[in-house]
Amino acid sequence: MKILVINAGSSSLKYQLIDMETEKAIAKGGCERIGLDGSFLKHNGSKEVTITSPMPNHEAAIKLVLDALVSKEYGVISEMKEIDAVGHRIVHSGEDFDKSVLLTDEVIEICKNNTELAPLHQPANLTGISACKKVMPEGTPMVAVFDTAFHSTMPEKAYIYGIPYDDYKNYKVRRYGFHGSSHRFVSEEAAKYLGKDAKDLKIVTCHLGNGSSISAIDGGKSVDTSMSFTPLGGVPMGTRSGDLDPAIVEFLCKKHGFTVSECVNYLNKMSGVSGLSGVSSDFRDLSSAKAEGNHRAELALDVFTYSCKKYVGAYAAAMGGIDCLVFTAGIGEHDAYVRYEVAKNLEFMGVKVDEFKNNNLSDGINDITAEEGKVKVLVIPTNEELVIARDTKAIVESLK
Ligand code: ADP
Repeated sequence: MKILVINAGSSSLKYQLIDMETEKAIAKGGCERIGLDGSFLKHNGSKEVTITSPMPNHEAAIKLVLDALVSKEYGVISEMKEIDAVGHRIVHSGEDFDKSVLLTDEVIEICKNNTELAPLHQPANLTGISACKKVMPEGTPMVAVFDTAFHSTMPEKAYIYGIPYDDYKNYKVRRYGFHGSSHRFVSEEAAKYLGKDAKDLKIVTCHLGNGSSISAIDGGKSVDTSMSFTPLGGVPMGTRSGDLDPAIVEFLCKKHGFTVSECVNYLNKMSGVSGLSGVSSDFRDLSSAKAEGNHRAELALDVFTYSCKKYVGAYAAAMGGIDCLVFTAGIGEHDAYVRYEVAKNLEFMGVKVDEFKNNNLSDGINDITAEEGKVKVLVIPTNEELVIARDTKAIVESLK
């Protein structure tokens, strides 16, 4: 079975064609600058190519992707019919879905109704779906895999905010959490790696990338997570502020002459380690700047790792212990300094990282626990596309 995984953003569209026999991507790539001048597709199939072509909309982008997949020169399949199903990443399930579902017209309608919960991402995801429906052979099954769904198991006390309850009842203001596919994937991989049943483990997963979130996973279920009503909450990120005293919004609006939405945009795009350091949102640039003595870059790294550490401690407290700490995503998988700093001073609760192992990772899953560490510390490469493909396969097979 071959499954096409689509992750549609507002001006970009990433894809992977996954062969489910091997669970490996046989082609992957992305369209950039959709709807803008200078749009192009980077495709890695039987060979790597960059195709510059106008893409006025997502439909044009998906057409280009499908043409690339069946291309005699750099394609990997001979006809579109070889694609058995499509899995779409959708950011928000609201409270309507607690797992992946077949994309029916009714499901699409519900997703549309949840747009106000993710006004930046949901419309782009939905555009990807309608474009796909137009371009793919009729009857190709499509599945929705939600970023929020894994966190639907959070108990009320973890997702309700300290504001009048009617705002939850009337407007669904609550913690939702994001990066669900990643937290789910790495926690399941951790259980497999440790040879344990996920039901018997308390795991804290740190998905640290451009966007970062930390989750508490007890018995295989998400019981708390740092991202919040939107992906702006939690730890400071590349350009997002993370948690703030909400009164700061009014204060900044007055000082900068911002409207509230301008202020939220400022907190999303101009803040985090980028705004703090004035250097970059990329942790590689921050460590180079720190090495050159840049205080603000060092401060940005300190603020980030300190915040992550506090979440790890808080979630260990929330679960009444921790058996395993997992690092994943761009920073979690590649930045030894960040991993070390987050784990440092958590020795009192059994977390201890082996410096040599931490600095010398090999491919795949790495156990970086020091000999005296009681909590397993693992670095696990995430694979959100595979989660989407696996869910899509399971749902499509259940239809037969
Ligand atoms: P996204 O959230 O866009 O999927 P990723 O998980 O790919 O992001 O993470 C991207 C970030 O990971 C980069 O912005 C950078 O900060 C960090 N990163 C990637 N490679 C390295 C590296 N070798 N060392 C340190 N940080 C890295």
